[in-house]
Amino acid sequence: MKKRLKILDRIIHELKSAKHIAIAGHMRPDGDCIGSQLAVAYAVKSLGKKVSVLNEDVMPKKLAFLDPGKILKSPNKPVEYDSVVVTDCASYERMGAVGEAISKRGTLINIDHHGSNSRYGDINWIDPSSASSGELIFRLIKQANWKITPSIADCLFTAISTDTGSFQYATTRPSTYQIAAELVEKGANVGRICEEVYQSHPLSRVKLLRHVYNSFKLIEKNQIAYFWIRKADYKRARALPDESEGLIDHIRDIEGVKIACLFEEIEPEITRISFRSKLPELDVSTIAVSFGGGGHQSAAGVRITGKQQTLQRKVLYALKEALAKIQ
Ligand code: 5GP
Ligand code: MN
Repeated sequence: MKKRLKILDRIIHELKSAKHIAIAGHMRPDGDCIGSQLAVAYAVKSLGKKVSVLNEDVMPKKLAFLDPGKILKSPNKPVEYDSVVVTDCASYERMGAVGEAISKRGTLINIDHHGSNSRYGDINWIDPSSASSGELIFRLIKQANWKITPSIADCLFTAISTDTGSFQYATTRPSTYQIAAELVEKGANVGRICEEVYQSHPLSRVKLLRHVYNSFKLIEKNQIAYFWIRKADYKRARALPDESEGLIDHIRDIEGVKIACLFEEIEPEITRISFRSKLPELDVSTIAVSFGGGGHQSAAGVRITGKQQTLQRKVLYALKEALAKIQ
């Protein structure tokens, strides 16, 4: 506890002394990443700081309501920043093009909850026991005594809600609910957040889901479920790449499935893989790390280069092995 307070105080000191602060996140940002980035941005903006919020990819449509002023930008050529805060990003490479844009930085502050975080910052606050990065940002803002405005509350509630599967994952702790309760007290609009994030899927995304239901495979006595989404599937559904988020949950949720796996074609020889585990004793982050990726026990991912058939064979073999180990 003492060490954590020290780190928090160092982070607060850094942010207070900086004039221009960049706030970065990982490529293909999710609710936890965007919510955490924007909450830090709003908090330090109200201290009078110049703030740049950077992400390699554009804002996912369902999260755009958190950024009415459109402060999230794609990275441009490198600019000098006194400090850079990176939220929810397990490795420097996961920032993608933002890594280059912040190369003229002062202090790099890495705030994350991935156990696999490579500690690439000058200050690293990594807490894998936290269900979301949003909870860490909440603790940072509280410790600094900065005001939690309704906008910040919306961002952090979205971060926590999305990274806990709406408070369903086993990572959800008593403090997760306590923080969420305080955010609602401070003005988080739960009805609006749930409508925007969970109940406004574009038809294109529903068409992708139809593809998932039509094409998923079950192996190992229905314990492993997997499916592919290729560029042609996006084209047919007229969907954007970020619309694949959450599709994997639909096959994870089949009775008897213990591991779910999504293979997504980024380029013909670049595949993004998502893993989900339904058993606490089955750690998919270990599998992701063995291929060069990362994540958490129950949700992990990696990007792999190579022929699709070859990598599918290797990945499914690793999943079967992991399953055999626990039986
Ligand atoms: P998703 O499957 O939703 O994209 O990601 C699940 C989890 O795995 C997230 O916590 C995410 O940060 C992590 N993850 C996904 N892809 C990668 C990757 O390529 N590298 C690393 N290090 N982590 C990843
Ligand atoms: Mn997260």
